[in-house]
Amino acid sequence: MENRRVRVRFAPSPTGPLHMGGVRTALYNYLFAKHHGGDFILRIEDTDQNRFVPGAEAYIIEALSWCGIHPNEGVGFGDGPYAPYRQSDRKPMYRQYAEQLVNAGHAYYAFDTSEELEEMRKRIEAAGGSSSYNAITRQNMKNSLTLSEDEVKNRIAAGETYVIRMKIPRNEEIRVKDLIRGWVVVHSGQMDDKVLFKSDGMPTYHLANVVDDYTMKITHVIRGEEWLPSAPLHVLLYRSLGWESVMPEFAHLPLLLRPDGNGKLSKRDGDRLGFPVFPISGSLLDTKTNKPESFSGYREAGYFPDAFINMLALLGWHSSGNQELYTMEELIKEFSLDRVSKSGAKFDPEKTKWFNQQYLRKRSDAELAAVWLKELQAKNINTTQAYVEKAVHLIKEKAVFSTDFWSLGSFLFEAPVAYDAEVIKKRWNEKSAQFVDAVAKAFAALEPFTAASAETCFKQTAETMGIKTGEVMQLFRVCLIGAPVGPALFELIELLGKTESVKRLEEAHKKIKVTVTGA
Ligand code: GLU
Repeated sequence: MENRRVRVRFAPSPTGPLHMGGVRTALYNYLFAKHHGGDFILRIEDTDQNRFVPGAEAYIIEALSWCGIHPNEGVGFGDGPYAPYRQSDRKPMYRQYAEQLVNAGHAYYAFDTSEELEEMRKRIEAAGGSSSYNAITRQNMKNSLTLSEDEVKNRIAAGETYVIRMKIPRNEEIRVKDLIRGWVVVHSGQMDDKVLFKSDGMPTYHLANVVDDYTMKITHVIRGEEWLPSAPLHVLLYRSLGWESVMPEFAHLPLLLRPDGNGKLSKRDGDRLGFPVFPISGSLLDTKTNKPESFSGYREAGYFPDAFINMLALLGWHSSGNQELYTMEELIKEFSLDRVSKSGAKFDPEKTKWFNQQYLRKRSDAELAAVWLKELQAKNINTTQAYVEKAVHLIKEKAVFSTDFWSLGSFLFEAPVAYDAEVIKKRWNEKSAQFVDAVAKAFAALEPFTAASAETCFKQTAETMGIKTGEVMQLFRVCLIGAPVGPALFELIELLGKTESVKRLEEAHKKIKVTVTGA
């Protein structure tokens, strides 16, 4: 076991969009594989035809790609030596293992109809017992343990439908070693004879999962805590199939909790609590209502994939120090399962925004400008990449998302149509109006026109007129951009340029005067 190449897999079922908890599971698998120089596989577990959702597989692939989690083998990412990677395409290989288990006495055929199963359930529940198909109840049911060998053969030959069930030992302790939780011990009396192989010729999740992990040479199973109750059965399957020596190690990840810590963060929480729970937006069939359902994602909400990944990485894992910002390479270097916590991790939407803000600040002006330029062009605004780079430089400090740019800096592209009423009321008077006019004239003659020269010019004009700059500063800003707050004033003026700044000051002088005299 020690010398095996690390191979892990993310094995989602295409039953709907991939929840952010699923992305975290994929991420931890990916980080673990890369940390150990191993392989990360994407396997699609689609044995349950009833819950199959068209488009879910494509969604999973797109979501992982957006996150930068690239499997080196698997559906959508190129075949490796263990193809195919979709369980429905592997269908022919499972029956032999189910039969191997029957032949070795670890599993059995069961012919009970759904009515018979229902009847058993009612009978036992009426007697106050637990209704599972197990070491005791199986004795009264129609299966290859109670029927004669001939009858079993005849039934199968006659084409009667049957399932293959695991024969759980009656009285045994099953021990699962979990890398995060330590030893988990379950008494077999609490387990039921799970179906391994269904009447439609498909394996169930349990059999397919174990057979695939074995045949794909998986060394570590890293998955959500909700699979912990299945682990004892999987351990028994490895043992019963004679694969114990190559059984993977298990690590069950803690749940993601709602921001208030009250329960598991579920698929439905996203729209209810006002933040996305999916990586990317989409619309997929909801198997409960049988209607397409739209859902929102982090990508469309303006998050950067690296910010989203950084946030997710720290949801249940912590580093050795107190560093919070990690590139994918740094995460790969630092990641280890022994720093994954046992208890649930509370999701914090505000902190998620903080991460995005940090990543936005790290982006170059050129990169952010390219994003903004697209939006500006869609608004039919005539500008250039060079101008937008300077514009974004002025406002990015305040932005959390690139979608904030317009509200933070529309005035860099459009002259104001209204002026902050409070500032006007407080500061607009004959003297300040003259001042605005005087600065407009002085600016028009200013050469060169830079932030520094504009500032000096502004101050000198005020001094000549006997005005304290503090009295007109805010007003001056309002004349230029309409609002009393915004980026560094003289840098903003330099970017607008001489012509535009003068035009705006003249315009303000004209318009505000009209407003005041008209009032
Ligand atoms: N198909 C299971 C799921 O949807 C995989 C569980 C596992 O990793 O074993 O999560």
